[in-house]
Amino acid sequence: MKNGQFRIAVIKGDGIGVDVTDAALAVIEAAQRRVGNLSLGYEFLDAGAGYFQANGRDMAPGAEDAAQAADAIFLGAIGLPSVRHEDGTEIAPHLRLRESCQLYAGVRPVKAYPNAPQRLADERAAGIDLVILRESTEGLFYSAATHNRSQVIGDEEVRETLRITRATTEKLHDFAFRLARKRKARGGKGHVTCVDKANVFHSMAFFRKIFDERAEAFPDIGHSYNHVDAQALDLIRKPWEFDVLVMENMFGDILSDLGGGLVGGMGMASCAEIGDAHGLFQSAHGSAPDIMGQDKANPLASILSGALMLDYLAERSGLQVLADAGLLIDSAIQSGFEANRLRPMEFGGDQGTAALTREVVSLIEETRLQ
Ligand code: ATP
Repeated sequence: MKNGQFRIAVIKGDGIGVDVTDAALAVIEAAQRRVGNLSLGYEFLDAGAGYFQANGRDMAPGAEDAAQAADAIFLGAIGLPSVRHEDGTEIAPHLRLRESCQLYAGVRPVKAYPNAPQRLADERAAGIDLVILRESTEGLFYSAATHNRSQVIGDEEVRETLRITRATTEKLHDFAFRLARKRKARGGKGHVTCVDKANVFHSMAFFRKIFDERAEAFPDIGHSYNHVDAQALDLIRKPWEFDVLVMENMFGDILSDLGGGLVGGMGMASCAEIGDAHGLFQSAHGSAPDIMGQDKANPLASILSGALMLDYLAERSGLQVLADAGLLIDSAIQSGFEANRLRPMEFGGDQGTAALTREVVSLIEETRLQ
């Protein structure tokens, strides 16, 4: 932040990433106008599969440094199935950013909105409001293909390494408890569940031990444990009972998609990736080439990711006006669904990207400020 101005690095990327980013920026702009006194400056950076195809590199020269120097990074989506590196791997500069910025805390809210599809017949499903906190730099992804750390023994065996470090795990659990505390202040349950497999793996027992240690510093927040297999079952049986679920990378990868499915689909799945000095915000979905350029994408995940970014900047800067802008976006979407004014095509409704964006902007303009 310089002279009260925030600098946001924006990477629109590929496919519907471009449309949903434009939508999110239009909505953030509307929220800024309402709360006033807030100045976000954008630096647009070229990156992605389309850029790679045209230029032979996945990010424009200097873009990685510019992203790292920004107050926050906002990303649309990256990747096109037809564009690959020579070895067949995907174009993924955002995964490099996750590593270089050490974005260990992957925040994936799972919230049911009225009139949006609910996959569970139980009426309590309307009250689903939880967050999956996925560790995003180590765990089983430590040796993922992009890192070249798998141990390949001829054509006979492959070994992958699951890595849990004290340093990252302490920070992750502290993040989980602080998040639960913040949600409690806004009416949340104030509870963190450690999701692990501590009965089988040393690494997971270590993960849980550190959870217990850190819990002592947060006596106002409840804490408990669940094995990951039982948690998968409970996300179907009684997801409305949970608040913040903290877990290792691979478990989080799987359960966050399950969570997205519980409350509609990928067009509602917002995401924040946060480290000690950086934050990256993007919807959890991909570039969806099957619907690109057709005005069919649901931009709400990206718009909600924009609200997460405002909240993050508020926390880092102490500026309440930023938190107000984030809350304004959240409440506009909540009341829009309540009044059946948000009807994404993704859920069989009649509104494409542009119409949904216009409606969210109108809702923000109409919302009464506290
Ligand atoms: P990635 O591996 O990059 O996450 P993917 O191929 O697994 O990508 P997506 O690009 O997320 O998956 O698309 C999966 C499906 O969900 C597609 O059918 C796509 O059209 C749909 N989809 C994804 N995002 C949206 C959205 N915002 N609005 C509507 N449909 C979407």
